[in-house]
Order: sequence, then C-alpha cells, then structure tokens
Amino acid sequence: MIGALLERLRRAEEATRPAQPEMLAALRRRWEELPDHVRHPAQLLGRRGLGCEGTHGVFPRCNLACTPCYHSRDANRVRVDGAHTVAEVDRQMAYLRARRGPRAFAQLIGGEVSLLDPDDHAAALQAMRAHGREPMSMSHGDFDWDYLRRLALGPNGRPRLARLSFAGHFDSLMYGRRGIPRPGSERELNPHRRRFCELFQRLEREHGVRHYLAHTMTVTPRNLDQLAGVIRDCRHMGFRMFAFQPAALVGDQRRWREDYRALTADMVWAEIERGAGARLPWQVIQVGDARCNRTAWGLQVGDRWIPVLDDRVPADLQARDAFFAHFAGVDAGAPRLLLAARLVRLAARHPRIVSLGLRWVGRLLRRAGIWRLLRHGARPLTFVMHSFMDAADVRPAWELLQRGQRSHDPRIRATQERLAACSYAMAHPETGELVPACVQHGVLDPAENLALRRLLPLLPSGRQRPADGTPRRPLPG
Ligand code: SF4
Repeated sequence: MIGALLERLRRAEEATRPAQPEMLAALRRRWEELPDHVRHPAQLLGRRGLGCEGTHGVFPRCNLACTPCYHSRDANRVRVDGAHTVAEVDRQMAYLRARRGPRAFAQLIGGEVSLLDPDDHAAALQAMRAHGREPMSMSHGDFDWDYLRRLALGPNGRPRLARLSFAGHFDSLMYGRRGIPRPGSERELNPHRRRFCELFQRLEREHGVRHYLAHTMTVTPRNLDQLAGVIRDCRHMGFRMFAFQPAALVGDQRRWREDYRALTADMVWAEIERGAGARLPWQVIQVGDARCNRTAWGLQVGDRWIPVLDDRVPADLQARDAFFAHFAGVDAGAPRLLLAARLVRLAARHPRIVSLGLRWVGRLLRRAGIWRLLRHGARPLTFVMHSFMDAADVRPAWELLQRGQRSHDPRIRATQERLAACSYAMAHPETGELVPACVQHGVLDPAENLALRRLLPLLPSGRQRPADGTPRRPLPG
C-alpha cells in the first residue's frame, strides 16, 4: 500500500515537472547545432522551440495553378494516393521524432491537401500527432463544408480531431479557384477568404472542433501594394496569423513571370506594417536567420495591433530573457490542469518570474488601453515573413555544405549561413538527412517527383488529369 502510494507520488512528481528532460535535451542539442551568428539573446530556436517541420513527396499534386509555383514540373503527374501519403507521413514524422525531439510544429504540405480523401487526411494528421507533432494542413482553401465535416468527424459522426490547424493560401497569383478562376486583384478574393474562415467557425459551433487558421500569401512586385489592404480587410475574419512569402526563383521555371529580385525584405515588411497600422518589432524574438524569417507576435484589440514584446522597452527584453531562461521546454499545449500544476512548480522554483510576469501584463494592458480592451477584447495575431531562396543559389551552397566547404562567393556564402541556421526542416529517413525546405524545393524535388511519377502514375481514366501548376507556398515555422 505504501509502495503504491509512493509510486503514485513519484509519477505525479514526474508529470508536473515544468519541462520534460527529453525536451530539454532536444533544445540543448538544437542550440549547440546552430551556427554562431544566430546564437544571440533574441534567438527562439534551441530556447523555446526546435523549429518547424514539413512533409515532402506525400501528395505533390495540385488542382490550381500559380505564378510562381514552387513545385517541380512533374508534381502534377503524380497520383494522389492516400495509402502512400499516410505511410510516408508516418515514416518522416517518426524520423523527426527520433532525430529532432519529442514536440514540434509540422506542416502537412505537398500539393493540395484537400485532394486527399478526408479519411486519409485525418489519418495523416493523427500519425503526425502520434509522433508528437502539432500538424497544420496547408491548403488553397477551395474546398466545401462537406469535405471539412468529413475530415473532422469520424464515421460515427463524432469528432475524431479535437482541433484543426489550417493555412489557407490566397493570392491573386493563383488561377483556377472555383468562382474566381482569374482574380483581377487581391480584394476580389476577400469573399473566399471569409468563406474559408466561416467553414471552420461553423465546425466549431456545430461540432465543438476548435481551429487555428493562418493566411498565407505569395508576394511579387505585382501584388506588393495590395498586401496592406489584405491585412486591413481580413484581420477580423478569424485568421490568427498572416504569413507572407516573397517569391523566389524556385520550382517550375515556366511559371516565373516577374523580376522577383526587385523585392527586398524591407519593402515587404514595410507593407505588412502599413496593413497592421503599427510598427512590427520583429527583432525582439527571432527564428533562425533574420534573412529568412521575421515574426511579430501581438494582440489585435479593435483596430489596433499591440506587440506582446517591444524591442525598444528594456523591461520587455528582460521579460523575454527570463521567459527563454525559465520556460524552456514547458509544453503550453498540455492539458490545462497539468499546465497549471507545472507553472506553479516553476513559479515556486523561480519566484522572480511572477513579478516580471505581472509587470509585463501591466505594460500590455497599458499599451492596449483598458477601455479598448473591455470594449473589443483581444485576439492573438501574428505577422510572419518567410523569404525562400533562389534555387540557383541554394544548389551550389548545399553541395559545398555537404562537402564541409565554405564558398568564397559572398552570395553563396550568405546562402550557406542561412541554410545552416534553417528553421524549417524536412526529413529523409532513407539517407539520414534533415534538409532545409529551400533544399527540398530547389534541389531535391525534381528527382523526387520524377520517381514518384513512376511509382504513382496518374489513373488512365483521366479522373486526375494534371492541372498546369501548383499553388501553395510553405509556411515558416
Ligand atoms: S527553408 Fe530556406 S528560407 Fe526557410 S528558414 Fe530554411 S533556409 Fe531559410
């Protein structure tokens, strides 16, 4: 009896540890692997997160068309095959679990995810969760209520997934969307963006399945000046994140229509700020290399966006440092009671975080304004910019990296630095490699899709005739 009691206490003690030792070890490993130039106080990788992960070669096909398109020209000649998808997702996620660590965000990404049968889609998400991954499905969003319902509910009509995360990719560079095959502007797509959000709101209302929605969008010189309008028009629709990807010269060359190099990160970020109506302090917390990622976390309070941390406020920097120092490995997605118990233990061990936390909340309330908060409430809203690199730079940079050599060409050298600090990995269990998504799309996809085309040829019936291109862009992690 005493033995059983002691055993229970031991298990409770283990479960309520603020962070699990395996996750702490994975974070330490990640930090040590990072190159020196990104090991600075603002770096999130190796302190709070392991980075983002994505699938590849699991369903390359898509039924819309994009200019530009990141997918190789053979992607649309591969059949969508649920059994292949689920087995391959399971294999890749198992490898990431073993190599990277117990928990990470991962994107179910390839061609268009809604071409998967809903049961196969659900099985792929469940496989990702089984390996400790928090999955996000990447879609063009052109699907119906029936598809979403069948994805979320099992054959017994009850939810088989408690929560769904989706990124809807909407921009005027995509062709073939039902009801608006050739959008003339970003604004014309707003009813489709709204409809996408409303599908998930209905799912939550009618079946209790929660959701997290991101809006992703490719940026080229053609739609740059419309980006701010998209944010202003759509920030109250229900998206929790707006992620922008300046176009890169990667994928199907037939679909490169503009001089994408005319865009700079500062130009795109300035437009995002114009849309948010606020300065977006991306330097306070960084994910990997700043040339790849900019992220600003904040709250939308009425029409005002408030940063959760401001890089011009020393007390906020102090709060960030304490957060990184003491909240490493704390699983914010744990069941609420368990999370509360862990936080109590954390506070008992480091009482200073309580006063730091309270002062931080006070600053946040002042920034937002109490009356405005009471009137509008607050919704978390994150802005992201992820800048993929041109395949012509990635190929030589990757080849040299694999040989352990550094390039003398400053442009290729910069590419190598970014690849070494990559925050968005894809798994190759067959070779034992984790590769940056830039390498996957710019170097490996063509041969991979050619092999898949032979493995999974299109059905002779013509039911899955290829569309001429693919529309999605990966989302940064
Ligand atoms: S995928 Fe490319 S752009 Fe994205 S973080 Fe990795 S190296 Fe940088």
